[in-house]
Amino acid sequence: MPPIIERFLDHLGVWEPFLRDGHCPSFRTASAWGGPELISNEFILDVHNTGWRLDRIRFDSMLAAEAKNRGVTPLPSKVRTARYDGEKWSVDCGEAGMHTARCVVDATGRTTLLARLAGMKPINHDRLVASAVFFEDSANPEAPGADAVLIESFRDGWWYTAATPGGHRVAALLTDTDIARRVRANRLDAWMGCLAETEHVRTIIGGSRPLAPPKLWPAGSRFLQGSAQPGLIAVGDAVSGFDPLSSQGIIKALRSSIFASYALADWLLRSDDSGFARYHALMQREFASYSVTLRDYYRQEQRWSDSPFWHRRHIGFEFRKS
Ligand SMILES: Cc1cc2nc3c(=O)[nH]c(=O)nc-3n(C[C@H](O)[C@H](O)[C@H](O)COP(=O)(O)OP(=O)(O)OC[C@H]3O[C@@H](n4cnc5c(N)ncnc54)[C@H](O)[C@@H]3O)c2cc1C
Repeated sequence: MPPIIERFLDHLGVWEPFLRDGHCPSFRTASAWGGPELISNEFILDVHNTGWRLDRIRFDSMLAAEAKNRGVTPLPSKVRTARYDGEKWSVDCGEAGMHTARCVVDATGRTTLLARLAGMKPINHDRLVASAVFFEDSANPEAPGADAVLIESFRDGWWYTAATPGGHRVAALLTDTDIARRVRANRLDAWMGCLAETEHVRTIIGGSRPLAPPKLWPAGSRFLQGSAQPGLIAVGDAVSGFDPLSSQGIIKALRSSIFASYALADWLLRSDDSGFARYHALMQREFASYSVTLRDYYRQEQRWSDSPFWHRRHIGFEFRKS
C-alpha cells in the first residue's frame, strides 16, 4: 500500500492497531517499464514517506476486530439473496437467518452480489488476470530491487514481486485471460518458463522454491453500471475494480466506504437520499480519471506494441462484457 494509506487509517482511528501488527515498511518501488533498466521511485518525497507490504489476513482481521469493538455484529454465514420490497430490504443470510434493513452495503468485492441481485452489472474494461506464486523465502536479497515492490514489463504483460511479511516472497504474472490460457499460466512449469523471459524478477527469485502452483485472480478494470435501487450502495471492488498496477485497490475501498457512510447517514438520519446519486457520480469521476492515468502509463511501454497484450492497451480499452 502506498504511503497515503496512513491518512485513511488515521481517519478511521485504526492507525495505532495497524502499526502494532508487524507489516513490513517499504521505502520505494522499482520498475523496469518502457526500457530494460530498473528505475527507483523513493517515497522520501511523499508527505507520509513509508509504504507498506501487508500481511493481508492480519490486516483484514484487524479491521474486522475494530468494527466489532464499535458495535458491528458479524454473522457466521454468507449472504445468499437480498430483495427490496419498495420500503425495506430482506436479506437471506442462510443459517444466520433472515434480516431486514432500510439500507444494504455491497462490500462483496468482485462478486458484487447485492448489486447484481438488484439488476446492476459490472462492465469489464479489459481481461487482466494475475497468476501468483508464493516462494519459500524472500529469495535473493542482494539482487537489485529485491528490497522494493518491483514491476517489470515483458512481451505478454508484466510482473511484480515483493518480499512478504513472514519471510516469503510473492511473484505474479499479469496478462489477459486468453494469453494466460495460451501460455498456460496456471501451470508451474509454464509459469516458470514465462518468468525466465524477465530480467529483474528472475534474478530476484533465483533458486527459491515455489510453495504451490500458480493461483489465478481476476485483476481487470471494471465499473458497476445500472440504476441502483433505493438504500443500496456498493463500495470497494463491488463498485469499481482497478488494475493492480495502480496499487490503489485497498485505498480505494476505504475511501469509497468513507464516502458511502456519509450518504448512508443522510438517508438513515434525515431520509435524504440525494447522497446516493452524489456518491455514484463521485465514483464515476474517480474511475474516469483512473482510466486516463492507466492508459497513459501503459502507453509508456512501446517495446512490444505488436503483441496482443500491449496492442490492446495502446489502441484503448475496447473490451466491454459483464
Ligand atoms: C493480484 C492482485 C494484486 C493486488 N495488489 C494490490 C496492491 O498491491 N495494493 C492494493 O491496494 N490493492 C491490490 N489489489 C486489489 C485489492 O486486493 C482489492 O482492491 C481490495 O481487496 C478490495 O477490497 P474489498 O473489500 O472491496 O473486496 P475484497 O477484499 O474482495 O473483500 C470482499 C469480501 O466480501 C466477502 N463476500 C463475498 N461474497 C459474500 C457474501 N455473499 N456474503 C458475505 N460476504 C461475502 C468476501 O469473502 C470478502 O471477504 C490487488 C488485487 C489483485 C487481484
